[in-house]
Amino acid sequence: MITASTSARLTSATDSDGRDWRHLWRHAVTDPLELLALLGLDELATQLPSNDAGFALRVPRGFVARMRHGDARDPLLLQVLPQLAECEEVSGFVTDAVGDMDARAAHGVLHKYHGRVLLIASGSCAINCRYCFRRHFPYSEEMAAAGEWRQALEHLRSDSSITELILSGGDPLALATSKLKELSRGLADIPHVTRLRIHTRLPVVLPERVDSPFIAWLESLPLQKVLVLHANHANEIDASVAAACTRLRDAGVTLLNQSVLLRDVNDNVAALTALSEQLFAAGVLPYYLHQLDRVQGAAHFEVDDARALELVHGLRVQLPGYLVPKLVREVGGEVSKRPL
Ligand SMILES: *Cc1c(COP(=O)(O)O)cnc(C)c1O
Ligand code: SF4
Repeated sequence: MITASTSARLTSATDSDGRDWRHLWRHAVTDPLELLALLGLDELATQLPSNDAGFALRVPRGFVARMRHGDARDPLLLQVLPQLAECEEVSGFVTDAVGDMDARAAHGVLHKYHGRVLLIASGSCAINCRYCFRRHFPYSEEMAAAGEWRQALEHLRSDSSITELILSGGDPLALATSKLKELSRGLADIPHVTRLRIHTRLPVVLPERVDSPFIAWLESLPLQKVLVLHANHANEIDASVAAACTRLRDAGVTLLNQSVLLRDVNDNVAALTALSEQLFAAGVLPYYLHQLDRVQGAAHFEVDDARALELVHGLRVQLPGYLVPKLVREVGGEVSKRPL
């Protein structure tokens, strides 16, 4: 049996067979038929869209292992399996749902809200989530990271109102730790930036990424550190994820989580309550619950605002206030995320 403490040791750099995160990344499942076979769901093969609906399937094997065998409605499977519904055109669902291009301050740099700047650090992800706006952007690698982060650092240096740097993507932890070190070296002479925030799904979908060199880098930073994870369902958080969270907290990182409200995945009070409880058990506070961006191909995941508000009310009844995430929607041109 793998106990929490052995799994903490094993996830320090490798999985239980000694493979590091890059190996696990490369050997993710990318063939929908293989995924269905692994789960004993071969009969669903006839319901797959051709060409993966234009957005490849990608899911790390450790994440597949958290799915229930033989369950076509598994909430983790539904987040990654291409569906015929993605091919339907639905009015209002577009390819640039967030309209981020107006906030572009430099190459890979979005400066939209006061005091914080967001870098599209990398275009890659270890997992392809079907509801993501990323499905329409064939990002090249290392966006803001190109040219040793020069444009991003120039922008940060030029504006002393910026106190927080947010790394987002794609997934910024797709970058090698050496690339992250390049950035932190550049930050050393920008004293007004005192906080580093990383938006990442990797500690959830590939917890082996939280390895010793990455932890050592975090510990070396003379900044306050916040990591915003992305988990949508309690089943995503197993012992290996909890162990990665422990390592992050021990490195002085504040851990938050953002989720997307997704039909059939987490659109009921019991699922959202279990998610908050499971997150807190791993030392993570729920931060945002996002209303879906209206991205073409994702309409079947949408939950309407009235239902979303009802769910959050249900959470307030069940949970202490600090375990109730803020329900928000991203609206172009506003001064913050819009609370519902
Ligand atoms: C969401 C977002 C942020 C962070 O907003 P918070 O409310 O501070 O979490 C910053 N910049 C951009 C461009 C964003 O989309
Ligand atoms: S950016 Fe986040 S939501 Fe989108 S595919 Fe990557 S991990 Fe999934």
